[in-house]
Amino acid sequence: MHDSVTTSLLDAFLQQLKTAPSSALLLDYDGTLAPFCVDRTRAFPYPGAISILEEIVQSGRTKVIVISGRPILELRALLAPMHNLELWGTHGLERQLTDGSYSCAQINEEDAVSLTKAREWIVAAGLLSRAEFKLGGIAIHWRGLPTAEARSVQLLTLEGWTKIAEQSRLKLLQFEAGLELRVSHPNKGDAVSSILAGLEPRTPVAYLGDDLTDEDAFRVLNGHGLTVLVKATYRETIANTWIRPPQELIDLLERWLINISG
Ligand SMILES: [Mg+2]
Repeated sequence: MHDSVTTSLLDAFLQQLKTAPSSALLLDYDGTLAPFCVDRTRAFPYPGAISILEEIVQSGRTKVIVISGRPILELRALLAPMHNLELWGTHGLERQLTDGSYSCAQINEEDAVSLTKAREWIVAAGLLSRAEFKLGGIAIHWRGLPTAEARSVQLLTLEGWTKIAEQSRLKLLQFEAGLELRVSHPNKGDAVSSILAGLEPRTPVAYLGDDLTDEDAFRVLNGHGLTVLVKATYRETIANTWIRPPQELIDLLERWLINISG
C-alpha cells in the first residue's frame, strides 16, 4: 500500500470531521492503542494517547469506542482513568455503554459443548498453565517463552485445535504470540454493525486495528467509513489505509482533535 493513498484518504476523512455534527472513532486495543507486553496486565496505552482521547471525548463531538478481544474488566483496568468510553469486550460478546450499563450476549449450547471439548484437550495436553478461559473462547499464550518452547506449544495447539475447529462451528484465530478457539459470532464485525445501526446516517466513522479479527470490522465498515491498519510492518489487509504506531497513531488522534475543535 502506497503512503500517498493513506495520506489522501486520511486527509479527505479528517476534512469531513470539521463540518460533521458528530463522528465515531472505533479502536482495537492491543497492538493498536497499546504496545504488546509480555505481562498482559501491563499493556498500557502508548504515551500521550489517553490524554488526546480524553480531549476528543470531552469535545462531545466524537463517540470513542474500544472494541477488543479482551474482557471488559481488563479493558477498564488498562484504560483507567478514562471511564466515559463505550467498550465492546470479548470480540463483541460483552458491551458497556458510557453510562456504565453492561450487557453480554448468550453462547448457544452447541458452541458451549465444543468449548468443553477444547478445554478437555488442553488438560490432556498439559497446557493448562498457558490457557486463558474467556467468554465464548479459550486462548493459549506463548508470549515470553523461549523460541523453541513457544514453537512446540504453537504446533501442539494448532494440531489439537484444528481438529476441534473442523468438527464444530468454532473458529481458530491466530494472534500475536497465541491461538484462540472461539465462537464465530458475535465478532468485531457484528459489533461494528450494531454501532453503525445506532448512528445517524453519514456520520464519519473510522476503525483502527491491527489483528486478523479486525478484518471483520474493516469488511463491515468499508464503503461507509475509514478503515486503518495500525502496524509497524504492512500485511495483507482489506483496510483502506495503513499507519505505523505509535507516532502516526498519535498524529492521527491529534489531527482528529484539532478538526473537531475548530
Ligand atoms: Mg489488536
